[in-house]
Amino acid sequence: MKRVGIVGAGASGLVCAIEAARKGHAVFVFEKNSKVGRKILATGNGKCNISNQNITLEAYHGEAISGMKEVLKRFDTFTCKAFFAKLGLEFREGEEGKLYPMSHQASSVVDLLLHEARSLGVHFFLENEVVAIEKKEGQFALHVKEQTHLCDACVIATGSLAMPNLGSSGSGYDFAKAFGHQVIEPFPSLVQCVCEEAHVALASGVKMEGVVELFVENQKVQRATGDLLFTAYGLSGSAILEISRKVSLASVRGEKVHVVLDLMPTLSKEALQSLLQKRVATAQGKSLSLWLEGMIPKKLALLIIHHEKLLHVKEASELSAKELKKLVFALKALRLSVTKTKGFESAEVCAGGVELREIETKSLQSRRVENLYFCGEVLDVDGNCGGFNLHFAWASGFCVGQSL
Ligand SMILES: Cc1cc2nc3c(=O)[nH]c(=O)nc-3n(C[C@H](O)[C@H](O)[C@H](O)COP(=O)(O)OP(=O)(O)OC[C@H]3O[C@@H](n4cnc5c(N)ncnc54)[C@H](O)[C@@H]3O)c2cc1C
Repeated sequence: MKRVGIVGAGASGLVCAIEAARKGHAVFVFEKNSKVGRKILATGNGKCNISNQNITLEAYHGEAISGMKEVLKRFDTFTCKAFFAKLGLEFREGEEGKLYPMSHQASSVVDLLLHEARSLGVHFFLENEVVAIEKKEGQFALHVKEQTHLCDACVIATGSLAMPNLGSSGSGYDFAKAFGHQVIEPFPSLVQCVCEEAHVALASGVKMEGVVELFVENQKVQRATGDLLFTAYGLSGSAILEISRKVSLASVRGEKVHVVLDLMPTLSKEALQSLLQKRVATAQGKSLSLWLEGMIPKKLALLIIHHEKLLHVKEASELSAKELKKLVFALKALRLSVTKTKGFESAEVCAGGVELREIETKSLQSRRVENLYFCGEVLDVDGNCGGFNLHFAWASGFCVGQSL
């Protein structure tokens, strides 16, 4: 039996604690927040998109991501479901293979994890931020407030820098560096984008199915389909979150970024052109925005009119053929410049982290320091939207717990 110290009671730390306790170790979990799993509670808009039916390595990113193949194999969707079923959690399936707790409440997941950990005798030290970790004579000294706890093995499960208000402070990167590990510079991912054009705010709150194409230095680099949400600062929605990793990376490199939005993906340009032409018959006596309101949300109509500089058009019936074409263009290929992302404060996850080549791929033990382990988002692993990030947190916590 080992004394195991786990830093962080988030998704990966909780699963690791349970597995380590099941193996008969004495487990001590240190959490800076007053409650465990605060970030889990915020996931999936409180519904917790816990995993996905289609877990594959291709859904993950990181400089040496292929090394994580073993972790995903050991804890696939089947094992994930079995793990949570053992805690008493039922599942329901959403679109695109997304898995949720049947209750649709993230709190069910946290409550059941905590109950299991406590039943297995895991000791929790809440409001106990670990400020430094040292290794002396084969033991780890975890410094917390005025106290020091000695452990045989130490697990860094501190998460990343994403959404620091939920507890992430990046302290895990500092612990890793202090033990001689390399850290790939973290950057925000699954995050909203800020647009240069202030008039985007006119459509704030409008959400629609659409297609986004991402251009970096005028080269098309990605295409995504899904929700597009206009906000006061720019763009959000699932399609935008999907492209945000590349936006973030380009911003770090100082490259120019723009997006082109297809707001009417079910209609071809030609079909939209003939629809508008047909609707000219209904334009008499209507303002341009009212006329467009017959097809698209009012706020979006205002944005389009501003974007295409059609404010001078008093009545829709005055539209010239050239101006009709401009409307088609704006609805099928609205070009907006992206200046940056909303940053770590708003990001769901962090790309970058502890370099994977310095970690054993099966056990997730440090190759530099014996009995030091890493799990969760602190590692250089980030997944696509759809339950992949929580899945990796559970999977990596599970593998560490089993390897201890
Ligand atoms: C708003 C939002 C929605 C999301 N939705 C989803 C979703 O639906 N599906 C999905 O798959 N992923 C989602 N994610 C991502 C997912 O939540 C994370 O990838 C996952 O929680 C990472 O788990 P972790 O254990 O690595 O870190 P965390 O869950 O962040 O846990 C780390 C814990 O360590 C604690 N800690 C940090 N430093 C210290 C220290 N020095 N001492 C003591 N304690 C410390 C923190 O307080 C925290 O509790 C979402 C993220 C956010 C922010």
